[in-house]
Amino acid sequence: MEEVVAQKKQFFIFEPSVHKIKLCNKKQGLLYFNLKITRPSGRVKDYSVVYRIVKDSSHSKWILDDYPFLNVKSQNIDVKYFKDVHDQALLAINYGNRIIDNYNKLFKWNPNQVKIKIFSTLDQISTSIPCFTTYGWSEEKESIKILVPHYTKEKTKIFLQMLTHELSHKMLSNITNDNASLWLQEGLAVLLEKSFIFKGNSINFSASNSENYVKKVLKDVGYTLLSLSELNKLDYRSGHEIYNQGFLLVYFLFSKYGLQKLDNIFKNLKEFNYINSRTQCKLKKLNARTNMALVQNLDNYDDLHNQLKTFYLKYT
Ligand SMILES: [Zn+2]
Repeated sequence: MEEVVAQKKQFFIFEPSVHKIKLCNKKQGLLYFNLKITRPSGRVKDYSVVYRIVKDSSHSKWILDDYPFLNVKSQNIDVKYFKDVHDQALLAINYGNRIIDNYNKLFKWNPNQVKIKIFSTLDQISTSIPCFTTYGWSEEKESIKILVPHYTKEKTKIFLQMLTHELSHKMLSNITNDNASLWLQEGLAVLLEKSFIFKGNSINFSASNSENYVKKVLKDVGYTLLSLSELNKLDYRSGHEIYNQGFLLVYFLFSKYGLQKLDNIFKNLKEFNYINSRTQCKLKKLNARTNMALVQNLDNYDDLHNQLKTFYLKYT
């Protein structure tokens, strides 16, 4: 609901409707739901999904439950999924626990239980947020949401990268009280996604694994590096630019200053209070807080952009 309110302010239009209701028995049924989303540009998407409805505890009225998910759990992870992505649910349990172990070693993140929802269609994931189009989603206090599109070739590899990426968002939100700016969130998630290598049952982490990706991104951005103030002007809709430039800045910070420095920046961010709203609604404050944490931790903060440019000279 909060997402709808936030997006309506950005001139998105949501038109929900119920197509039909089918009762399975006296306690359970299915509700066929349609959602029409219109973008500010006028582009339209029509989504159709099926929800489970159940009788409430007093058995007097029907309530909307959730999608008719299957469920599998481990100590750290609770996965809800659709039958046709059963193999991805098992990957989430098997590798998710090990990714969390690695995040615990790197960033001292020890979560209670991470909730993950794995979808099988674009209609399901987009309606659940709801959002015009998405494949991965993570907001503080909500389940991680993942969809690997059907046309994807290397499904296992892509799923594990998405899992690593979305778990990074969850971890960084937790260890910073959700005070990291969007470039830091996306930059770290992309760095970790590209730095873990999965081989059989083993996981190998090294930032140098993402070096080829550094070269690709530099080419993508035409070897133009944004300064921090330019990065802070980008809004959440500049997805690709935030991913690329955020990644280059985080890779630089990781390589030049090391993990300990990043950890100190995260600790500083945790000292700020938690703002209970969606990232896109509190982005200006998150940028200001992240800037303050950088000023506190980097000796030559004023010279940051020059250091960044010098660092990447070797790749040109
Ligand atoms: Zn992301």
